[in-house]
Amino acid sequence: MEKLIYTFDEGRSGNKELLGGKGANLAEMTHLGLPVPEGFTITTECCMNYLADASFFEKQLKAEVLKAIQNLESETGKSFTSTENILLVSVRSGAVFSMPGMMDTILNLGLNDYRVQDFAKLTNVNFAYDCYRRLLQMFGDVVYGIHKEQFNVLLHQMEKSLNKKVTDFNEAEHVELIESYKNLFSKNKVAFPQDPMEQLFEATKAVFKSWNNQRAKVYRDLHNIPHHLGTAVNVQSMVFGNSGEESGTGVVFTRNPSVGDNKLFGEFLINAQGEDVVAGIRTPEPIESLQTILPEAYNDFIKHSHKLEQHYKDMQDIEFTIENGKLYILQTRNGKRTAKATLKIALDLAAEGLISKEEAIMRVSPEVIDQLIHPVFDTEKLTAVDAFATGLPASPGAATGSIVFTADKAKEYTALGKKVILVRQETSPEDIEGMVVSEAIVTSRGGMTSHAAVVARGMGTCCVTGCEALTVNESAKTVLCGNHTLTEGDMISVDGSTGSLYLGEIPTIVPENDQSLQQLLTWADECAELKVRANAETLQDLQTAIDFGATGIGLARTEHMFFGEERVLEMRRLILAKDEEEVQAALNKLLSFQQEDFYQMLKTVQDKPMVIRLLDPPMHEFLPHDANEIKSLADQLNRYPSAVEKQIEKLQETNPMLGHRGCRLGITEPLIYQMQVKAIFNSAIQLAKEGLTICPEIMVPLISENAELDYVKSFLTETIEATFKEHQMEPFPYEIGTMIELPRACIIADQLAENADFFSFGTNDLTQMTFGFSRDDIGKFINTYKEKQIMQQDPFQVLDQSGVGELIKLAVDKARQTKENMMIGICGEVGGNPESIAFFQQIGIDYVSCSPYRIPAARLAVAQAVLK
Ligand code: PEP
Ligand code: MG
Repeated sequence: MEKLIYTFDEGRSGNKELLGGKGANLAEMTHLGLPVPEGFTITTECCMNYLADASFFEKQLKAEVLKAIQNLESETGKSFTSTENILLVSVRSGAVFSMPGMMDTILNLGLNDYRVQDFAKLTNVNFAYDCYRRLLQMFGDVVYGIHKEQFNVLLHQMEKSLNKKVTDFNEAEHVELIESYKNLFSKNKVAFPQDPMEQLFEATKAVFKSWNNQRAKVYRDLHNIPHHLGTAVNVQSMVFGNSGEESGTGVVFTRNPSVGDNKLFGEFLINAQGEDVVAGIRTPEPIESLQTILPEAYNDFIKHSHKLEQHYKDMQDIEFTIENGKLYILQTRNGKRTAKATLKIALDLAAEGLISKEEAIMRVSPEVIDQLIHPVFDTEKLTAVDAFATGLPASPGAATGSIVFTADKAKEYTALGKKVILVRQETSPEDIEGMVVSEAIVTSRGGMTSHAAVVARGMGTCCVTGCEALTVNESAKTVLCGNHTLTEGDMISVDGSTGSLYLGEIPTIVPENDQSLQQLLTWADECAELKVRANAETLQDLQTAIDFGATGIGLARTEHMFFGEERVLEMRRLILAKDEEEVQAALNKLLSFQQEDFYQMLKTVQDKPMVIRLLDPPMHEFLPHDANEIKSLADQLNRYPSAVEKQIEKLQETNPMLGHRGCRLGITEPLIYQMQVKAIFNSAIQLAKEGLTICPEIMVPLISENAELDYVKSFLTETIEATFKEHQMEPFPYEIGTMIELPRACIIADQLAENADFFSFGTNDLTQMTFGFSRDDIGKFINTYKEKQIMQQDPFQVLDQSGVGELIKLAVDKARQTKENMMIGICGEVGGNPESIAFFQQIGIDYVSCSPYRIPAARLAVAQAVLK
């Protein structure tokens, strides 16, 4: 017969399948020589045997449990029959995978009507009866299914009639309460067994059965835990920290969980039980004071906690109890900690030689890095408030400010020194200056790749998009949410990491510039294979990207350079030009803007690669739509508003994102692309003359057909060659590549690779076009999709590996057949998502590119993708 029960000194942490997580951990600590209260574990196999055939208990297990108890009695010197050395045990479930609170536990098992009196003599009346009362309640609930609440009702009735709390009951009153509990058992036609062995048998069976209770099943389904594993049952002798002035209990972290310092952090209470520390009725003392109160126990604790940390190679969160001067360790686990502490502890453990550099890299999650570079709300303050609305967490960070509804108001308020939150239905290129000065941006529409989201991430500004619960009325200057109406100037707080909005001001904590972060990221770079580039075009973003360690720029979206009043006006002039002359005039202006921009941009990134993408969005995005704006544009252009309006109407499209945009514009209006490459080469040549070696990389958007690329490439090459000639400059190398952002482009990637010097996957459009989900409207339904478990994640945030991912893989394989060493990158937003990065590592991508503030987390993620 296989072994049914293991004492704690027989098991090891490797036996989780048989002993469950808790049992294996108790065994591991016992094996380490730590003072763990003695006990044994009934295996998960027994659970499954019992559930398959209940007679297994009588026939095989019962005798073994009896033996195990006899063994426990001789080991502890306590027993179920002694009146002085009273053995009480806890009976706890413990599955292979932790299922917190899903199964049952019974404490203080072994008490009965007589033993409670002996126990009271040993401890005190109140405590002894409290233990007994709780035993009856837990036993009734777990074994007989009498709901806990029914016992509470009896307790409250009696407290009410005696007009005092149970903690103030005298012995007779306690006995009366116990009697009422026992009557509840009788009413349910059952009796509380007075024999401790009987209690143990019944409790064990009940814990086995709790494996199949409804909530445990649901939890397993939810977490993909197989149903055939079963739970172990841990029977452990109880120790009492409230048995006098030489007893106590406490919780200690081996390092400071909020800042990470290598110094014990925790507290304890003398003559108390674990619950007292948690309940906060008495104020615990710092752990250091234990040294003077109970020096021996303290010294033991220091020894053991050190041993635990060395063994588990991580900061431990330890629960201990001291019973009559003797220390017991009840539990240890890896301690929860703040982002700051996570980083510090990982680096310190590596410096102490306890873990390797690689392990240190794996210990820190990319989300932790995000928290370290963005402000976060003070968690304590945050717990006291509820969000009034929630949208998509488009750009991390936390901010507080007064609501404004227009970019102009944002500028006006900030000029007066006020902090503002720009709230809009959605943002457009004209809002850029208002966005720059805002603490946060909130939109009621749009997804994770909407204009607001992309621009905010680029600037590192906190942003929540697609907050559908908000009705934004920009002209009335109100925002409606349920029955709240907020008006201009009202204070709100925005959490871009969770998507939550709060009323009023919540203090934020700004992280310091951390040397430790640099250290970790340097280690990460050493083992990374994928490179990390940035999506950036403004000088400030480019600089931020470089400071954060970008190896180059994967995407400079040139349309972003037409934002801002002066430039957008020239763009409008071009789009609405009546004749050749007006076209040329506008192009010349734009050329001079772009030339200066590219000069500064190339100078900022120096010898690092920078992919410049030619104009992509549909023209109407540059045009005004409301009557006032149209009127003022008409004035500036010296036209009739009605004429301008007509022209704008003509440019409207039913599906602009599927319409006249990207290379299609380049093909119908080659002058724009020609102007752009001319500007790029004018500035590159200028810089070359100044001694800088650069290889411009030009990228054409939205290619779906090889002939499109052919056509665009030929007129671009012509313009470039002409530009070299104009400057009397010997041509230097440059590259023309394409974005792969349409499913058709993926399928013909082998052909496109013949024509393109490089590829960059635009996963925003590729996701949009593959699913047919509008990237600007997904906010309307994605949350419902998640709630109804139709989709687990927003595919614009995390790459859809089985659909979009497969297309990318196909395209990479095809491209590499044509050009084995072609440079292939990812420049859609999922390029900064750790889960997606792991996939890109597998399929042989060369680099990922993401907004500047996502660079640090991405640097860590690319290293982790290798180490995993
Ligand atoms: C993309 O489509 O993924 C991309 C990077 O381009 P944009 O977001 O500018 O359309
Ligand atoms: Mg795109």
